[in-house]
Amino acid sequence: MEIHKTEFVLSSPDVKRMPPPEMPEFAFAGRSNVGKSSLINYLCNRRKLAKTGATPGKTRLINLFHIDQRWSLVDLPGYGYAKVSKTEREVFRKMIMSYLTQRSSLARVFVLIDANIPPQKSDQEFIYELGSQQVPLAIVFTKSDRPRQNELQKNKNAFEAIMKESWEELPPIFLTSASKRMGRDDLLNYIELCLYPTVPPR
Ligand code: GDP
Repeated sequence: MEIHKTEFVLSSPDVKRMPPPEMPEFAFAGRSNVGKSSLINYLCNRRKLAKTGATPGKTRLINLFHIDQRWSLVDLPGYGYAKVSKTEREVFRKMIMSYLTQRSSLARVFVLIDANIPPQKSDQEFIYELGSQQVPLAIVFTKSDRPRQNELQKNKNAFEAIMKESWEELPPIFLTSASKRMGRDDLLNYIELCLYPTVPPR
């Protein structure tokens, strides 16, 4: 699949103020600074669709884009940023979860995980909550150009081992790097498969 036309629709402070669903939505979520904006720009082949390097914890809105009039891309606020207060983090978490559990057009949420670091509690908690609410998800490791190969494998294995404690079958897992332009085709093909399944994707 290729992307030809990307169109910014709106930013919304919560799911209730989003327009009625029009097309299947693919949402991107992750801790602040995980590389979400860079990945979205890389996927869409646009330099500034999503704001990279935004002050962590400051992007508070749900951003909706239409892609080729076939599907929508949703850029969710980053979660788990240590420097915002616990109360504020909780407000974000609730707002993100409301979108993910109430939006009927949600096809998948891609949960972004930094490949450079060992499993983080905030990511595990977020994924666990998605699982318990049966939100359809896929995992996307970001910045996988950076760690050495054995470090990357170690972080990925540790992450999968923790997931296996509570998941019977792991969701799809992708390895990407926006800097080295890796993993785009895999992600776009997966989106295509979700849109037009030959056999239902997981
Ligand atoms: P966001 O806060 O999740 O939207 O993250 P950004 O896209 O703004 O990226 C956060 C930081 O990670 C920036 O300094 C980026 O340059 C860096 N970064 C993003 N993607 C990659 C990548 O694929 N590889 C490497 N090495 N760094 C990246």
